[in-house]
This record gives sequence, structure tokens and C-alpha cells, in this order.
Amino acid sequence: MIIDVHSHVGEFPNQWSREWFDSYAHLVGDPLKSVLQYFPIEEKILADMDEAGVNISVVMGFVHYSTSTLVPDEHVYNFVKKNPDRLIGFSCVQPVDSRNEFNAKGLLEFEKAVTEYGFRGLKLLPVYNFFFPNDRRVYPFYEKALELDVPVMFHSAAVGSTAARMKYGHPIYLEDVVMDFPKLKICISHMAFPWTEEALLLVRKAPNMYMDISAVVRPTILAWNLVKAKEYGVMHKLMFGSDYPLFGPRKNLVELIRNKVNQIAERAGWPTLTNEEIEGILWKNAARFLELKL
Ligand SMILES: [Zn+2]
Repeated sequence: MIIDVHSHVGEFPNQWSREWFDSYAHLVGDPLKSVLQYFPIEEKILADMDEAGVNISVVMGFVHYSTSTLVPDEHVYNFVKKNPDRLIGFSCVQPVDSRNEFNAKGLLEFEKAVTEYGFRGLKLLPVYNFFFPNDRRVYPFYEKALELDVPVMFHSAAVGSTAARMKYGHPIYLEDVVMDFPKLKICISHMAFPWTEEALLLVRKAPNMYMDISAVVRPTILAWNLVKAKEYGVMHKLMFGSDYPLFGPRKNLVELIRNKVNQIAERAGWPTLTNEEIEGILWKNAARFLELKL
């Protein structure tokens, strides 16, 4: 069993814009070549899951106002409803609008996504849409998530896009959220890279806070971060995520967790992961986070 808690869908170029891809060109040359091979995502994602042995994926849209990227929840829903056993939808509406004002309409859209579409969480993108997670304007979204009993996932990590700002991704801003909403279930995405150690301490302190390992694909850095998670005693809160389609194919990411990180740890004389810890990352922790009855 493998559960991927972090993957994206959406069409190019009418939803994911060319500008969005251009904002990553300095990092990976022509991302249109490397990432567009996975489009149309809706036609390829299930085969990629099968190839990697991934049973269930959390899928979500995307919102990045400044590159005119918008994959609406409705689009995600139309895809999820065709594959209800394999896909779980998360809403991706943002608490601020394109003028950076409180998104009252978005709050209703989030509610509709959960109550009508059956979505099971909310994905927030502070680095792309320029708000801090502890901004009081965001709090109605946390109150709604508590009321609807669904978790909130944050891109709380650095970001390579030239159209995004990493200051909004620092996990320290989640401390207020955790203190003000102790019952809210939270996932910090991307191991809060490069602020992983700060985030691990927050995960240790907050009973309802989890972390996904998506986008941490440099093997040595991933291995070292997992060693740190083990040292801090939070392995039971780490979850596999692919950030598909950005780091595909998934089978390579599964191989990283299953074998490569332990090979690196052994060579370095670091503590290695037990089979139980690996299974925890690959699905057991996510099943608890998503409250799946498997
Ligand atoms: Zn994401």
C-alpha cells in the first residue's frame, strides 16, 4: 500500500499558464520539456500511480494569481469523481484574492468543495499568493476547516519560482496557527525545506501537525532530513508525497524511500530507517492523517 498525499492536476496552458512554467526556467532549463511530458495529467496520472504501486493519491488544483494560473476545484472534482477509489480531492482556494484582499467568495467555495464535492482538505499556497499563514485574514478558513473537520496543507517551504516569495513559506508563521487552533490538523509540505529543523520541532510540539516529504528529491538531503526527523521522534508524522507532475515519475521517489536513503545513511554512518518507519512514511501515517479506513 502506498498513499501519495500531494499531487496536482490541471490542464496546460489554459489552467497552468506558460508564465508559470517560465518562472521556473532558470532552474531546470525548459520546464515545458521536462514537465509537460506528464500532461495531460488526467490521462497519465493513474498509469504513473500504477507503475509506482501508489494506491491512492490526494489531488488538488493550483492558484497563482501573478502567473494567471488557476486550476479550479470544479475541474479537480470532475476528474476525482471518475476515480473515487484512487483519488481524494483537496480544495485549493486561497484566503486572499488577486488584489490581496480577503477572499470571502473563496471561503464559500472551500465549503462547497467539502460538502458537495466530498473533498477532504484545503491546500494553501502562501509563497505564491503572498500572505502569511498567521495573517488574521486567513483565520476564517481555519475556523471553517475545523467546522468541516478537514486538514489544511501549507506550502510552507522555499520556492524556486521567480514569481513567488519564499518569506511567506517560513514555518515559524505556523506556530501562531498551531497555538490558536490546536485541534486543526495541519500538513507542512516539502519538509519546510530549507527550514526543516525548525519545522520538525514544530511538528514535535503540535500533536495535530504532520509533514510531507514531497519535492525533497536530492537523495542526500532527504536522507539527512529523515535522520533528523528520527532523532526528534516524529517519524510517525511524515508522509509520502510526489508533488506530481513536477518530480515524476513517482516510481523513482518510492525507490528513494524504500532503498536509497538507507544506502546513503549506512555509508555515512547515520541511523537507518526501520521497515516499520518506511511503511509509516509510505502509507500508514497518511491513513491516520486522512482518517482512511483501510
Ligand atoms: Zn503542491
